[in-house]
Parts: sequence; structure tokens; C-alpha cells
Amino acid sequence: MIIVTIIVLALVFLIGFFMNYQDNESDVVDAGIFESPGADGTATDILDEEGEEAQTDDIPFEEAVWEYRIDRAMGHPNCPPVPEIEYPVDYYKGRLIDSHFHIANLPDSSPGDEEGEEVFYSAYFGEDNNENNEDGDNDEEEQENEVMPLLGKNIKISDIVCTLEHEGTDKVFAFFPVYPDIPAQMVEVVKRTMDLYPEKFVPFIMAPDSDNSPGGLSTVKSSVLTNMLSIYPGLFKGFGEIGLYPKEGGSRELPPDDPVLRDIYPVVRENKLAVYFHPGENMEDNFEIVLKENPDINFIVHGEQIEKPDEIGALMKKYLNIYFTVNDLYGDKYLLHTQGSTEDFLEALDNYEPLLKKDLATWQKLIEEHPNQFMWGTDRGGIAVWTLDREVGKKITDYGRTFIGKLNPTVRERFAYKNALRAMGEEV
Ligand SMILES: [Zn+2]
Repeated sequence: MIIVTIIVLALVFLIGFFMNYQDNESDVVDAGIFESPGADGTATDILDEEGEEAQTDDIPFEEAVWEYRIDRAMGHPNCPPVPEIEYPVDYYKGRLIDSHFHIANLPDSSPGDEEGEEVFYSAYFGEDNNENNEDGDNDEEEQENEVMPLLGKNIKISDIVCTLEHEGTDKVFAFFPVYPDIPAQMVEVVKRTMDLYPEKFVPFIMAPDSDNSPGGLSTVKSSVLTNMLSIYPGLFKGFGEIGLYPKEGGSRELPPDDPVLRDIYPVVRENKLAVYFHPGENMEDNFEIVLKENPDINFIVHGEQIEKPDEIGALMKKYLNIYFTVNDLYGDKYLLHTQGSTEDFLEALDNYEPLLKKDLATWQKLIEEHPNQFMWGTDRGGIAVWTLDREVGKKITDYGRTFIGKLNPTVRERFAYKNALRAMGEEV
């Protein structure tokens, strides 16, 4: 009898131990592949600066490549000294928050497929990755790849910080893409960014679900979002930007009161996030329902689909929890598109008096009628890498400061940064 009891106890212990072990394993997978955030990446040991050394240590191939990609995404701070900026008399000279800023995504191809990763392949497998060395790209694709910002390839977090410092922007509402197939890797970029630059970025989670295909959605569902947010609880401060309009050849229209979004609002509330939407046409009534139902959640919007006084103005009059980013300046136009260039942009803004006149005619009255709900922004960084150039940044803020300087003195600071802080729940 005693022997039987001992055997049973031993079995229970072993099963318990084994299950616990498996639990830990899946925790690691759930929480992402990176157990020690902020630790020095082993990947840099594998591939030194010259890309010569190749020692594989103990970490698996895929993890090593992701570490390498994330290190590259962060970059190195080598920003030239920032000269003191002297503003003309009629400029707004105070703090500035850009409330609409896109962060590029990491290359999401299979580990080993990107240029420069061959050395990993040969270090781990002792041979070249021939399969992936074929050059199947056509010219058009290559051109597009040059224009599209890609983190670690043509833009790094350190470059972005340098641009912001040179132009004199305090902070940006940064939309960090997080894809459902590599959430841990993409959230790791956010974590490291916030560890290094806690004052520069207000991180929003932008998590589309195959929005380029017809069955896709412009956001992941609430359960997936919950998992993404649980990787580093408290890391994100906002949810979005989510385009609510139908995407050509892709995701369907998603009104703010759609069941998919209604499922998400409790997650937003629990994680104390602000929501950032780009509404589609005629969604004011749907919006009204959501604003009324969620008075404790702040909603920020932008875009021509909702910018009219009888649209955004009417909603603002009734609800204090809706905010709007004014980024279609420069003659009420969006100039930061893929076909543009730094030279074209600088040229377009060379003589900006007439543009300024037009912008003030479009916006001034509306902004001053709702002095606590409009804010400045740029909508940079999403589709064209040149929009993150230092010269472009300087010109954008130069224009922004001139525009703000023309507003009623009681509104200037609110539009420049205070409303942005308030939208994020800060008391100002
Ligand atoms: Zn945007």
C-alpha cells in the first residue's frame, strides 16, 4: 500500500512538473520570443558591424534573425548637433506635439530572406540560402520598395528622433504597426523605442488584419488585440490609426458602431487607451452613438470625410470626447504622398503666403469655435520615406508654427500641444 501511494505521489509530482514546464513554454511563446527585454541583442554578436563574424551561440536561427532586424530598426544615435532655432516674431514659439505620425513596419518576410541575412543562413546551416537569392523583383516593385519606409532598411528609429529634434517637435502620436503573424517582434520595436525615448513618442497600436485582401479587416478582433496588449502591459497609450473607409480591393467599411469595434471598446477602456480613427463618408450618426456610449474614451479623428463644420463641428458641440487633427494644411492639401519628393515639397512651400491664407480660411473659425478639441499634426511616415527627411520636417513645423501664430492667442497653445495632452488623459 505504501509503495502504491509513493508511486502515485511520484506520478502526480511528475505530471505536475511536466505540465508546469509546458505552461512556461507557452507563456514564453505568448509573451513573445524575447525573454529579456532591453538585454543586449545576441544577434549583434552573431553578425558584427562588418558582417564578418558568425557565431551561432544557443539561440535558434529565426530568433537570431529577428534580433538582428530589430537592432537594425533601432539604429544608432548619430544625430548632428541641433542648432538653436530662432523663430520670426509672428511665429508660435512654444511646445509642439505632432498628433499624427506613422512608424514604418519591420520587414516581415521569412527570416533569412532579406538582403544581408545570408550570413546567418550560412552560419546556421553551413550553406547559402540559394532559394532566396533569386532576384524575382521587377523594376516597379523595386521602385515602390525604395519609396515605402521600411524600418531598418531605409529608415531607423534613431533617424526619426533626429528629425524631430532638428525641427523642434516635442512629441509625436506614433502609430506603430503590429501584425498578427509577428506581434512579439513588432511590439519589441515599440518597447525598445519607449525605453530609449520615453518622452518623444506616445505609442498607438495599429493592428490591421490582412486589410489588403477582400476578407480582411482594418483592425484585428478584440481577443487578438488583448493578446498583443498583454505582451507588455501598459506600453501602449492609444489604439489606431484605423481607417474606417472601405479599402480598394481590401477590407470592408467599418463604421464606429460596427460589432467588431464595439467588442474592442471594453479592451480600450481596460487598457486606458485613446482611439484614433480615419472615418469614412457619412459616419457621423454612427459616431454619435459611440461617443454617447463611451464618454470615458477619447476619440481622435482626421480626414476630409468628417472635416466640415456640420460634421466634426456638430459632433464637437455635443461631445467633449472627440478631437480632430488638422494635418491637411499647405493650401488644404495633402502633399506627403508617394509621388512627391523632398524637392517638390520644399518647392511647393517656398512661397507659402497664399497657401496660408487658404488654410486660415478653411480652419481658423472652426478651430477657434472649439478651442479645446483641435490639434496640430502632419500624417507623415506612412507611405513615403522622404516625408521623414530632416529638411521636410523643418519645413513642416515652420509652416505649422506660422499657421498657429495666426490663431487667436488664447487658442495657440491648446492647438499646438495642450489638447493633444488632454486627449491622452493628462490634465492641462
Ligand atoms: Zn494617417
